Amino acid sequence: MKTIGLIGGMSWESTITYYEILNKETAAILGGFHSSKILMYNVDFAELENNMSTGNWDGNAKILADAAVRLEKGGADFIVIATNTMHKLVPYIEEKINVPILHISDATADAIKRDGHRKIALLGTKFTMTQDFIKDRLVNAGLEVMIPDEEDIELVNDVIFNELCLGKVLDSSRKEYQRIISYMKDRGAEGVILGCTEIGMLIKEKDSVLPTYDTTIIHATEAARLALA
Ligand code: GLU
Repeated sequence: MKTIGLIGGMSWESTITYYEILNKETAAILGGFHSSKILMYNVDFAELENNMSTGNWDGNAKILADAAVRLEKGGADFIVIATNTMHKLVPYIEEKINVPILHISDATADAIKRDGHRKIALLGTKFTMTQDFIKDRLVNAGLEVMIPDEEDIELVNDVIFNELCLGKVLDSSRKEYQRIISYMKDRGAEGVILGCTEIGMLIKEKDSVLPTYDTTIIHATEAARLALA
């Protein structure tokens, strides 16, 4: 079994789900008492959040590269970055390490294509929805990506940072997300990517009029499988 190098804490609320899925999937495949071999570096999310707010992406790149280097030195065979947004920094982090990074978008695109969908809605942080680091990867995999209207981009982003990353799950926000998902469906989306690792706390498959692609579940499941491949 390979050792997974997990960079967590972004936020820790969603890292809990990664930890649980990694172990459950490993046990499901191997049975019995089997569990996942994980080295975790949990960042202080306040530092990263502050750097995002001030546009200091270099600062975040250094923090994450340092975490990845420590995990590699500790014996990790590959790296899992437990957040979509920080995948913006993958090219920088990759330069600093010799082990691969399991990209969150690749398994997500595969799952969507396996279900025969092409036009897909993307919900996530403002960075993930408006910049290209996730969207380009999905488009290169053959998908057409739709994002919400400007006002709703703000709403989706505010719910992530002001509620979900602080452990608050509100019915009123779930209703807003459901409204946005319905609107995307009306515009032709065939599924919705929960492209922020905390959105699964708010929206489950049953809450959505579109099939959901929860990046936390997909990424963690893929990591457990890769460790056993
Ligand atoms: N966990 C979130 C994501 O998947 C947002 C937190 C962050 O900025 O890393 O994008």
